[in-house]
Amino acid sequence: MSDLVPAHLDHRRVWRDFDYCYPVLSRRSRGLSLGVNLNPDKVCNFDCVYCEVDRLSPPVRRDVDVDQMGQELELLLDLAVSGGIYDIPPFDSALPGQRRLNDIAFSGDGEPTTAREFPGAVARAAALKGARDLDDVKLVLITDASRLQAPEVVQGLEILMANQGEIWAKLDAGTEAYYREICRSRVPFARILDNLLVAARRWGIVLQTLFLSWQGRGPDDRELGAYANRVQAILEQGGRINALQIYTVARPTPEPEARPLRRLQMDAIAANLRSRFPGLAIEVYYGPEEWA
Ligand code: SF4
Repeated sequence: MSDLVPAHLDHRRVWRDFDYCYPVLSRRSRGLSLGVNLNPDKVCNFDCVYCEVDRLSPPVRRDVDVDQMGQELELLLDLAVSGGIYDIPPFDSALPGQRRLNDIAFSGDGEPTTAREFPGAVARAAALKGARDLDDVKLVLITDASRLQAPEVVQGLEILMANQGEIWAKLDAGTEAYYREICRSRVPFARILDNLLVAARRWGIVLQTLFLSWQGRGPDDRELGAYANRVQAILEQGGRINALQIYTVARPTPEPEARPLRRLQMDAIAANLRSRFPGLAIEVYYGPEEWA
């Protein structure tokens, strides 16, 4: 992409001595995103082959302290709103149009909704945003969709959605077998599909799908057909998909066999989906071609 700048390649979830909050320049956010990591223990209920989290080095801490999280977020909000963050590398590489705070995103080294503190953390972020009148700034949950119907998660989602919230939910497969191969989770695939449908009906979702080359091959036609059927099933049953984001591996991961699809392959998948779902907003995010 022509607007790709060095800061897009730097998605480290560390900022100075902070334990929970970190800024990233995000292509999908089209600007600055302030991340909130509610999984400093690096535990996830998925084990995606393409996951970027370094689970070999030990976590700095395992608990979630919502007060500290709030203080960190407050400092980052001030830096973002004042523009001071764009004097600091790598954010000084952001182009003028990218120098905007798009969102506060719950997205960390694991699945945010598995943290007991999820509802309290969402409430804190919403309060900090509200106190600064940042009505244009979204609250985003980036989720593997495994817990979208758990009562305490629904409580957090109600707060999120009342404060310019968006649910960006993952669906990486159309068949149970491919889901098991790529996401390596014990959560039943049927539960993921049911959660996606319920959330899409109630609030609307952004569906996120990572297509990749895994062990030398991308998803075959059968898998892609099954995936499209899952999308169709959500729509047919009254689910709202506000956007479908398809992307590929963008940065090196601990699994060397997880590699990006080429631009042409991504374009072919997108073209197929667009012809099947003409009314759906489909966004494509490419990976580094030289590494595919
Ligand atoms: S759901 Fe996210 S954090 Fe968990 S393994 Fe997959 S990519 Fe990593």
